[in-house]
Amino acid sequence: MSNQRQDNTLFGLSEPEIVEAVKTAGFDLARFRAKQIYQALYAKRVHSFNEMTSLPKQLREELDDVFPIPRLKIILESVSADGTIKYLFELADGRSIESVLIPSEMRDNEGESKRKTLCLSTQVGCPLDCKFCATASMKLKRNLTTAEIVAQFFEVERASGEKITNVVYMGMGEPMLNYENVITSLKIFTDPSLEILGNKRFTVSTSGLPDEIIRFAKEGLGVKLALSLHATTDELRSKLMPINRRYNLSEVLSAMEEYYRQTHIPVTYEYILFQGLNDTAADAKRLAKITRRMPSKVNVIPFHPIDFTHPADLGAELHPTDEKEFQEFIEMLRSEGAQVMIRSSSGVDIEAACGQLALSNEPHTHEITLS
Ligand code: SF4
Repeated sequence: MSNQRQDNTLFGLSEPEIVEAVKTAGFDLARFRAKQIYQALYAKRVHSFNEMTSLPKQLREELDDVFPIPRLKIILESVSADGTIKYLFELADGRSIESVLIPSEMRDNEGESKRKTLCLSTQVGCPLDCKFCATASMKLKRNLTTAEIVAQFFEVERASGEKITNVVYMGMGEPMLNYENVITSLKIFTDPSLEILGNKRFTVSTSGLPDEIIRFAKEGLGVKLALSLHATTDELRSKLMPINRRYNLSEVLSAMEEYYRQTHIPVTYEYILFQGLNDTAADAKRLAKITRRMPSKVNVIPFHPIDFTHPADLGAELHPTDEKEFQEFIEMLRSEGAQVMIRSSSGVDIEAACGQLALSNEPHTHEITLS
């Protein structure tokens, strides 16, 4: 899919792109003016050129006419009992996406959560059809623009009044299938001159596209990479995640190794536990072996049943592993030397937990398109 963007706005453009866009529109601006615009858009989060008081008044008015600054409209906020907030955004074309703000379980002395993690979407829907994922039921509608990715951060920050401390590209969509816009958004977010957040605060999660992972490794962004693994054999992974039929585990794990080789940043594996499918002692042994290939950790995640899974494809219903077996699996992994984190079920009551993002106002389909 092409790199979509709104051509009549500077929001969502990198600094060199702003220079180019204002020139193309006939403005003869000194380089430092473009820098002022770039800083105002992302560091100061202005919503109109009129707020850019460092620019001459006439120029502000002209720029406001030519380059409106779009806003993402929040149409629904759902607040979970655990403090997780899910935001439903309406996009300019009437489509919708969701972002989730998750407080960490760590509390400071005042009982406040210090870590606020924003889970961003990168596509409207997703084409990859993972069997445990609600977003998959929407199919792919379109890629998000860079502006729509960046605006999720700013709008959630404004609406929540919270300081976002971490960002995960783990919402709706496969980030590597919207590569250019994801990269531009990361370049903006991690630009030290904008002082938004340090690059180590960002994690991009992928279902495993080897070519894009290797390309991503060479971008020099210094962000973390997570792989949605969920199975340790090709047979099971291909059933849970059809993308595995195109790129098998061996290819995907080699690409992850390349990411580590290039960046020296330990990788993360995401592993949702499904009763009787991927939670045996043999699974734990194979998973631990995978984690030993390079410095890494594994996030073990409880499964949250949703209405839109495709059990017929699997020949079995998907069920969460029960609490006792969940703990035993964690113990087995740890005894095999794996670095294990247990991901909480934040936002499960508002359908904001992992794999639950799908829009109640978008039609859901159950057709299967396996590639
Ligand atoms: S888990 Fe991620 S890659 Fe898989 S269908 Fe859902 S959004 Fe797409």
